[in-house]
Amino acid sequence: MSNQYDVVVIGGGPGGYVAAIRCAQLGLSTLCVDNFIGKDDKPALGGTCLNVGCIPSKALLDSSKNFAHMQHDYHNHGISFENAKIDVNTMIGRKDAIVKQFTGGIAGLFKANKVKASHATGTLMGNGEIKLTQGDKTTTVTAKNIIIATGSTPFSIPNVIIDNNLIVDNAGALNISETPKKLGIIGAGVIGLEMASVWGRLGSDIVIFEAMDSLLAAADIDIAKVAGREFKKQKMDIRLKTFVKAADIVNGKVEVTFEKNGEQSKEIFDKLLVAVGRKSNTEGLLGDNCGVELTDRGQIQVNDLCQTTANNIWAIGDVVRGPMLAHKASEEGIAVAERIAGQHGHIDFNTVPWVIYTEPEMAWVGKTEQQLKDEGVEYNVGTFPFAAIGRAVAMNQPQGMVKLLADKETDTLLGAHIVGANASELIAECVVTMEFQGCSEDLARIIHAHPTLSEAVHEAALSVDKRAIHKMN
Ligand code: FAD
Ligand code: NAD
Repeated sequence: MSNQYDVVVIGGGPGGYVAAIRCAQLGLSTLCVDNFIGKDDKPALGGTCLNVGCIPSKALLDSSKNFAHMQHDYHNHGISFENAKIDVNTMIGRKDAIVKQFTGGIAGLFKANKVKASHATGTLMGNGEIKLTQGDKTTTVTAKNIIIATGSTPFSIPNVIIDNNLIVDNAGALNISETPKKLGIIGAGVIGLEMASVWGRLGSDIVIFEAMDSLLAAADIDIAKVAGREFKKQKMDIRLKTFVKAADIVNGKVEVTFEKNGEQSKEIFDKLLVAVGRKSNTEGLLGDNCGVELTDRGQIQVNDLCQTTANNIWAIGDVVRGPMLAHKASEEGIAVAERIAGQHGHIDFNTVPWVIYTEPEMAWVGKTEQQLKDEGVEYNVGTFPFAAIGRAVAMNQPQGMVKLLADKETDTLLGAHIVGANASELIAECVVTMEFQGCSEDLARIIHAHPTLSEAVHEAALSVDKRAIHKMN
């Protein structure tokens, strides 16, 4: 292996591997260093996203969704069968096979693009030097540019120790081999709600402890309310304003101590998932003289261009400010690669879409109504319910709505919020509209195919100007 590169990328998640491929496409000699070990104890590219995040969670969400539809929905279509069963180990095995297919796919892409890969832990030593450690072996490589893409790891709260057996994090929650009878979850955030969906659909009694007064604090309040109602129907017991104080293992179960309105109580669970957020991963990364500084939140400090405080060292993805999302990490990686190559990589941080893959799905882009109020921006609102959309009713998925927020004076689209079937796909046209600084009127004038769910976006856009056709304005 050569020890001199134009670019060394540290981290092989969706930030790092995408940056490495784009660097190589631009003619830069590139090494990607990653230290992730997969479930089979072998090195695996793809980071959190492919191994223990986006992809495996969506595989389990899909399996469990099919099972739930068989039990609760298919009879509406006249489809009946007896004793629907799910074999959890087959479901987990299917998920593992999908993970392997995609992590192996990155190795193939690296080969095709001539990106070199090294399974090691990278440490920045200053002057463009990176120490690579693998077991007790170390080597040193040098690079004209370094991209840090070391991602994030879950954290816990005081008095709750994750053992990934009875008290699990995201990785543990994706590998449970038997449906727990009673599953406790700390945090009604993204991971908490997605994993509650998986295990709740398979039969677990779900209790979610959430410190805040609403679930998914980042979502628009109307969207969170609709979702909350649907989660209640799915028998998720979401306890707001409830703080977990401790979790102890007692007789092979987890005893959770929590506080609500100043009163402490205890409750026993078969398993407990800790989903209280993630921290930037800088462990073993920063040598004494590397010149890279951290923020007071422990993230790598970067400017809008992803430049750190050290020359020619860049940082992207979960390890820096901004939402912890795979597509944000990847787009930062592409932009940085292009900047290194002398081009003008660009990202609009105002148009990063969010998607929560519960049922109904939630998706949004841009400002929430609360944010616009706080910022004193005047706006118009257009909403439309999926219950009035023929396709949604034909699919037996009439829950939810589209809500659009447009500038009162210019009509520029400022935010789009969707809760309902296929929200994950529907949000894309709102992202495009916002990226082109389009207006609600643009969405209203575009022809949307009938019958489709996208008609709800169209009608919500018409409703901004109080001219929706299929509802009272
Ligand atoms: P990571 O994916 O964390 O990759 C970092 C890599 O760097 C890892 O392989 C790590 O081992 C390696 N590394 C760390 N330090 C070193 C070092 N010193 N030397 C060498 N290698 C190192 N996001 C979405 O957009 N959509 C989703 O549906 C979604 N679902 C998720 C579900 C779950 C359960 C979780 C936990 C996360 C989910 N996310 C989702 C978030 C997404 O996974 C992250 O935002 C994304 O993985 C961040 O990419 P990254 O490249 O910055 O870091
Ligand atoms: P999160 O920040 O989404 O939610 C954590 C929740 O835990 C918050 O609502 C917080 O109020 C609550 N909490 C914290 N301490 C508590 C306590 N002591 N008692 C009760 N509640 C407490 O974090 P997460 O769910 O761990 O997810 C981490 C990140 O991973 C997300 O922010 C997201 O960026 C990413 N992710 C994305 C997706 C997706 O895009 N679909 C899916 C999963 C994860």
